Amino acid sequence: MELLLSELISKNRYWTSFGRVATYIPELKNADQNALGIAVVDMDGNIYKAGDYDTKFTIQSVSKPITLMLALMDYGPEYVFEKVGMEPTGDPFNSMRKLETINPSRPLNPMINAGAIAVASLIKGKDNQEKMNRILGLFRKLSKNPSLDINENVYFSEKKTGDRNRSMAYFLRDVGVIEGNVEDILDLYFMQCSIEVTCEDIAQIGMFLANHGLVKETGEQYVPKHITQIAKTFMVTCGMYDASGEFAIQVGVPAKSGVGGGIMCAIPNKMGIGVVGPALDKKGNSIAGVKMLHELSKQLNLSIF
Ligand code: GLN
Repeated sequence: MELLLSELISKNRYWTSFGRVATYIPELKNADQNALGIAVVDMDGNIYKAGDYDTKFTIQSVSKPITLMLALMDYGPEYVFEKVGMEPTGDPFNSMRKLETINPSRPLNPMINAGAIAVASLIKGKDNQEKMNRILGLFRKLSKNPSLDINENVYFSEKKTGDRNRSMAYFLRDVGVIEGNVEDILDLYFMQCSIEVTCEDIAQIGMFLANHGLVKETGEQYVPKHITQIAKTFMVTCGMYDASGEFAIQVGVPAKSGVGGGIMCAIPNKMGIGVVGPALDKKGNSIAGVKMLHELSKQLNLSIF
């Protein structure tokens, strides 16, 4: 396996030069354009890694299916899906154009920014500190990495420049999708996006989803199975934004990408995969990461369809 992964890295690193690191969050400019790394965790907990697997990056949108699970555990699907829909948008992740044109006005799904901000407003806790501790606690548990933390530079950078998200959040309060202090909700969202990880961390989280919410070592059903199914289904239909259809055909696995260059995959009953490659394609997905996953899926016959 490790040999296969190393081969895929050498073959696909070339693609990194065709992408661009995200710059709309100024701090993300500092990412290594040419980095490419991968980690695979199988059902027995074996870990295989290759390339720049120790590159650190912020989780960004890869966090969205996980906070969705927390909101679903806090409020149940019925209430959550009154606030956010279940349908793909066909639009970029930060688009706001359908927010006003659909009736009733609400984000189309929890994987776009507007939907994830609505989800952040549904995390329970007496204050933002407690809410963030619950989010961070969940990520630490699922990644099996108790030292996961926030990259403060990225957090402050996005907080300072995140006017597009800010405008969507105020709009969402106006139409009654979110309630309470908008700046606090945005803060929570920016913090969740700024959790710093490696591809091994997200491979572990992918493995947890692949194992339907069961912690293998302890036999503990940490997240109910039906909630992990909802998360994985959104990963298939909306996880790669407006490239989700193409990715489903080419790779065929539940996956979630982020503008930090991460892609997390959860292949049911098989494995979790984490990829890092900060050079992004036009839709905001790791350009070399997608190419590499395409080939890995072909070689290991990973498509779930
Ligand atoms: N924090 C980023 C944003 O809100 C997350 C987007 C992403 O990873 N696609 O713009």
